[in-house]
Order: sequence, then C-alpha cells, then structure tokens
Amino acid sequence: MVRKGTNFLGEHYDPSMLAISTHAPFGRACLATPDGRTCGQTLADGVTSPYPGTDVSGPFSVLLSAGKVDHTRIRGGLHNMKLHPTAVKGSRGSRKLLSLISSYFRSSSSFQIQFNIVDTKMLRDAQLHPENYRDLIVRVAGFSAYFVELSKPIQDEVIARTEHDLPGSGDSTEDDVNDGDDDDEHGALSAVQGTIFDVQDFTLHDGPGVRSTIFLKGCPLRCKWCCNPESQRFEIEEMAKTADADARTVGRKVTAGEMVNEMRERVRFLTGDASAGGVTLSGGEPLGQPEFAHAVATLLDRAGIPVAIETSGQWVWDRVSHIFPHLSLVYFDVKAGKAATYKNCTGVDGRQIMANLARVVSVMGPQHVVVSLPTVHGFNDSMEEASEIAAQVISAGVRRVRILPFHALGDAKYTRLGRDAERLADAVVPKATLDELVAFYTSKGLECSVVGSTSK
Ligand code: SF4
Repeated sequence: MVRKGTNFLGEHYDPSMLAISTHAPFGRACLATPDGRTCGQTLADGVTSPYPGTDVSGPFSVLLSAGKVDHTRIRGGLHNMKLHPTAVKGSRGSRKLLSLISSYFRSSSSFQIQFNIVDTKMLRDAQLHPENYRDLIVRVAGFSAYFVELSKPIQDEVIARTEHDLPGSGDSTEDDVNDGDDDDEHGALSAVQGTIFDVQDFTLHDGPGVRSTIFLKGCPLRCKWCCNPESQRFEIEEMAKTADADARTVGRKVTAGEMVNEMRERVRFLTGDASAGGVTLSGGEPLGQPEFAHAVATLLDRAGIPVAIETSGQWVWDRVSHIFPHLSLVYFDVKAGKAATYKNCTGVDGRQIMANLARVVSVMGPQHVVVSLPTVHGFNDSMEEASEIAAQVISAGVRRVRILPFHALGDAKYTRLGRDAERLADAVVPKATLDELVAFYTSKGLECSVVGSTSK
C-alpha cells in the first residue's frame, strides 16, 4: 500500500518501523492489546521485541519469531534483548552470545539487535539509590541512556523486559565458566581424528577471498562424471605408478588440532591476517566424517577464520546439524531434478538430498547457501531436468545457483586405482545450452552464474 503512493518529490514512500523512544507516549494513547498489555501502558520497546513477560521460551525462540519479519522491504527493525551478566560470563558465555547473534543474522534478513547486559536486582536498587548508579547505562530503544535519568515509566519498562539466560549457562558460577572447561572442550575437539587426501591453496571457486581447501576422504555417491575417484573410498589407498606419475598413497590421518594449526599458518601466510582468508571443507563428502568436520569447523570458527563447505547433501541431518552454526557459506550440490536421473547419475535418488537442502537453507538463511549444479551433456543438461531442478530448489528457499560445466574425466586416475570408469562420450555441455540454462534459471528469479568454462 505504501509503495503505491508518491511523496512531494514524486518518489515512492518506504515503509519504516521505528520505535526509538515513542513506545511510552504511544502506549499512553493506545488501548489494551491482546498480548495482555492494559490501556495506556508503555508499548513493547524496539520494533520486534516482545511485550515484557510474553517471551517465555528463551532467547533463540524470540529471535526465530523476530526473524520472520522481512526486513529487506522495511526500514528500522530494531530488536532489544536483556541478558543476565552470568549468561555472557567468560569465554564460553562470549561464544554463546556470538552464536546467538550469528544464528539471528544468518537465518533472517534482520540487521540490528541490541543487548542490555544487566541484572534486574541492580536496576531495582538503582531506582531506590540513584546516587550509587550515576554511571549505569542501559539500552532503551534506539539509543542508550543513563538509567537514573530516565523517567519512571521507562525505567519500569526496562526492568519488566524478560531477562534471558543463554542455554547451557544456567545459574552459572565462576567455576562453571572458567577456562578449565574451555580447555577440556578444546582438547577433546583437537583430538578428533579424520582422513584427508589433499590440501590446496588459492582455490578459486570454493568461496570468497583467498582460500585454502581441505579435501576429506570418502563419499557416499558414485557420480558417473567424478574426476576425483581417489576421493570416494573412506580408506587410505594406493595409486599405481604410470609413465607420467609416480606411485602414491592417497589419504593421511590427521587430528583436527593438527589440521587447524596447519590451516591457521597457511591462511596467515596467504593473507597476512588469519581472519582475512577462509577455509573450505570439500571432498569427497566432507560431512561423511561428521565429527572430524565438526571439530575442524568449530576450531577454525573460534580462531576467527570463516569456514565454507562443499557438500553432496547425502547425509543424515541429525548427525551433521551441529556443524552448520560454525559455517559462513554452504555450496550444496544438486545433480538432477528427476529421481530416476539422480539415481542413474549418482547411485541415489536425491530425495534425501532435497530434504536436506531445505533444512540447510532454513538454518543458514538463503544468503549463505549456493546450489552448485554439476552439468553434464546427455545426463542432466536438458530443459526438462532444469525445470525440475528450478522447482525444487525454489521450493527449498534457494536464491543462488551456479552451473559447473563438466570437464575432462579423470580416466587415468581410475586406471591407477585399478578401477573401471564409464567413458563419457561427448559430455561437454555446448555453450549454447549453457546460455539457455542461465537464461532459464534467471527467468525463474534465481541468481545464476557459470563457474569454469566449456571447450565447445
Ligand atoms: S559427490 Fe563429488 S566426490 Fe562424490 S562421487 Fe560425486 S563427484 Fe565424486
């Protein structure tokens, strides 16, 4: 409705949700509301903040509700949250707070949250003895203020806001949040062992910025076009010598702690600053070793290094869901639209993959998920397949896709591993087909790009 009208400059109006300090005077003019607020009482502070006392299911639940508002179309959108000081005490508390904030922004279009880290008892005491709390600052709505200088109704409203704890903090004592616990947890994560088969620097298509990519061994799929057959088996294996290449062992055992130390050095070397680059977990299927992937992602995340992942999507959600809060970006493969094509190309029918895609988009937010479309002529490059793919990824909430055109099969590697590869005759996707596919996905409202090139 707002967009239909124009202002005196002839421009459209933009809807805006602003509370700032108006929640008190507006409340005085407002009748009773269904949330239990009586006539004339101060309204909820902020824009998406719940009315005091109505948020009874914890801070994550509050933010899930607040995140339902589409902030891309409306200005303003402030959210205020009150936390007890023990909830954020120590490095464990800080990490929980970071996790809360990143979950909120990853899973929604929200862009602003403010915290009051205060103890309600202290605020009540400040009302009684303002002379002792001259420097006590609280976040009111869109601004901060000295608590003792606020009017009594606003003081009462700040006090009435639900005081949240963070899950796992509880009535934490000094001992609960000390670094000893953190050391134990860090040690346990560092000791988790996994198998990798390669590490590469300056990887171009594995995420933003200067990146290093860790390739984890093992994959549940058997894609007919797989050019890394040495990635498929979980076990360490031998590749035979040929005229052009020496024999080599594929795979090495490594602990998450060793891996993370190595990556910190690489990223620091490549960028001069460990936080400026990033690490991508690839494979194989990196989530085929969920505990190792979780340990590496968690430790890198704690070190301030952004972690991306490239996944086939073929895994059990409950075994991997704890990894996603530590990721900044997910490249999620979709290899076909029809179940029969998926099965023919990869060995699985893709149903579990598409269900997992919807879950990943909902926890990461669509801006942090890119669907990769490995595209192979004669397998999955028809418009029929593209229609099915578009319908399914759009229904999963995806906004960005990238086409990865087929390139030469690693035939020689299959031979060196003592395996047969199905020869893919003329599987390079014609340029005209690629153009058609890009135009089609774009016409469906998806942001679409082609990564890599085709020789035709
Ligand atoms: S998902 Fe990737 S690693 Fe696994 S078989 Fe397919 S192409 Fe190879």
